[in-house]
Amino acid sequence: MFNLILFGPPGSGKGTQSEKLVAKYHLKHISTGDLLRSEISGKTSLGLEAKKYMDKGFLVPDEVVIGMINDALDSNPDVAGFLFDGFPRTAIQAEELDDLLAQKDTCIDVMLALDVSEEELIKRLVKRGQTSGRSDDSNEMVIKSRIGEYHKKTAAVADHYKKKKKVEMVKGEGTIEEIFARLTHEIDRLMKTDNCI
Ligand code: ADP
Repeated sequence: MFNLILFGPPGSGKGTQSEKLVAKYHLKHISTGDLLRSEISGKTSLGLEAKKYMDKGFLVPDEVVIGMINDALDSNPDVAGFLFDGFPRTAIQAEELDDLLAQKDTCIDVMLALDVSEEELIKRLVKRGQTSGRSDDSNEMVIKSRIGEYHKKTAAVADHYKKKKKVEMVKGEGTIEEIFARLTHEIDRLMKTDNCI
């Protein structure tokens, strides 16, 4: 398997690049944001609980998200690998993910971290809010609180994988194709080696 985490703050382009990467490498795309939004539109109890946090720009509790990931891994036993988008977002989620993958005799091959300036992030999110229909994109307070959560809780996930020497920084500004080329360059290189020993 080849498992990768696409990492970066809200608005860094994870969703856009994920779609292109899963098409090229036939990976299973797991976006916790998409999974949560689909629970919300299905009005499930998990969705109703998650919405309270998401509307304020706060992270959903770890146990809720980890449960969803567990289900997603179990229901895709025969894939070439996973692309995790928007997950893990806390140190606890990262530890859980490593354990779940170890139980399947695999690991995270690489974390590709998109680097985008804060000014550019806010610009992109406000612009997305005008068309995406996502309520968390249309309020600058909520956007700021999501970026705050990222610095408070999510940046630690990069440290977790840095200790394992699994982080590659990728410049997340430029055209979609330029950024895609930088990402595929790293993946093509790493696919040739065994990263799980
Ligand atoms: P973005 O990265 O642009 O904020 P996402 O779709 O990844 O968009 O996430 C939207 C919201 O869903 C987050 O602000 C958070 O409330 C919730 N969320 C998504 N993934 C996680 C996660 N792994 N842990 C906790 N909350 C999450």
